Amino acid sequence: MTPDALAAWLAERDVPAYRARQVADGVWGGAIGSIDEMRTLPAVLRAELEAAFRFDTVADTEMKEADGGLTEKALHRLADGALIESVLMHYPARPNSRERHTLCISSQAGCAVGCPFCATGELGFGRDLEVAEIVDQVRFASRRLTDEGQRLTNIVFMGMGEPLLNLDRVLAAIEALNDRRRFGLGARHITVSTSGVVPGIRRLTALGPQFTLAVSLHAARDPLRDVLVPLNRRWPVAEVIEAARDHSKATGRRISYEVTMIGGVNDTELDAEAMADLLRGDHAHVNLIPMNPVAHTPWIASPMPVIEQFASTLRTAGIETTIRRNRGQEVGAACGQLAAERSGEPPAPAVARRRARLVAESAAALLGERSHEPSPVGVGE
Ligand code: SAH
Ligand code: SF4
Repeated sequence: MTPDALAAWLAERDVPAYRARQVADGVWGGAIGSIDEMRTLPAVLRAELEAAFRFDTVADTEMKEADGGLTEKALHRLADGALIESVLMHYPARPNSRERHTLCISSQAGCAVGCPFCATGELGFGRDLEVAEIVDQVRFASRRLTDEGQRLTNIVFMGMGEPLLNLDRVLAAIEALNDRRRFGLGARHITVSTSGVVPGIRRLTALGPQFTLAVSLHAARDPLRDVLVPLNRRWPVAEVIEAARDHSKATGRRISYEVTMIGGVNDTELDAEAMADLLRGDHAHVNLIPMNPVAHTPWIASPMPVIEQFASTLRTAGIETTIRRNRGQEVGAACGQLAAERSGEPPAPAVARRRARLVAESAAALLGERSHEPSPVGVGE
């Protein structure tokens, strides 16, 4: 609820205006977990709030830890039974960087884009998340951090779903997270990752700088990107890069490109050179991320020396590049893995067909052939 809507709701009940601040402190402060604990409020008002609102849409949550507690994975069961995930990653202070606590959140239950290396993609699309379901992942993590005397420093929309295909709600959630009267996290500390929804990027550009934009690139050549990001058939890589470039020019902000490194698929020297040609001269930063193992793909991460070679080709072309270590593998912290496990094992022949199709398609793509067949999604095909 926006502060204005809350003020109006209280005014209708003749509640003094200063109570709005107390309610907001209870909702956003991180100290309490229910309306009943809002002890600064009179009992009658608490009862009215209880009757009218849900305090938390992710109350039903299961936690798993990895990396010796540095990664905390939350599996949230929503009111209708949909499962989504958020992952809290702790980065201890280092000589030249401060301590960070980054939360990776979901924008949809499942995802319609269907990238074949992604556990969420395999699940298929469930539904868009509500604004409350997006911000409640943040409030949930924030409460855990407050208990430890810590604060959330960064939020990334890199969990389940394609944020630019639920853009109205994602923008409303970011407004709440940004708002000093609500969560109050600066726009620079929020990153939204997209698989390349060009109209969404253009809409963001028109709005001006709201947060850091990350684009999941994965491949610079259309035949291969068609396989890795099926949305590429709709908005090919040149259009995505053009929109990202315009965004960077209009907002003065650097674009982040994510590349999931898949052994023998998108990590060849040819691919590194194609990416260098594509991004040369741009205000861009490339993150190379070894693929997290997921079920039902024939693929695994590229070996580290191959990733280093790829990085070196990009750097030689003057493109700032980092290699990111993936987190939380042992609890399946890649996007959507826990939820995918819960959805049960698909029939073996469907899995075998999916693997064979991916091997054939990526092999053809390596040779530069572009298929115009619509790509079937998931293992239920
Ligand atoms: N749908 C958006 C945001 C969520 S996915 C997008 O695709 O950008 C967030 C990031 O996780 C993307 O860059 C995606 O490519 C990456 N990702 C998905 N599955 C992965 C895996 N198995 N290993 C490594 N990265 C993965
Ligand atoms: Fe969807 Fe992103 Fe996963 Fe692709 S990588 S299926 S766009 S969540």
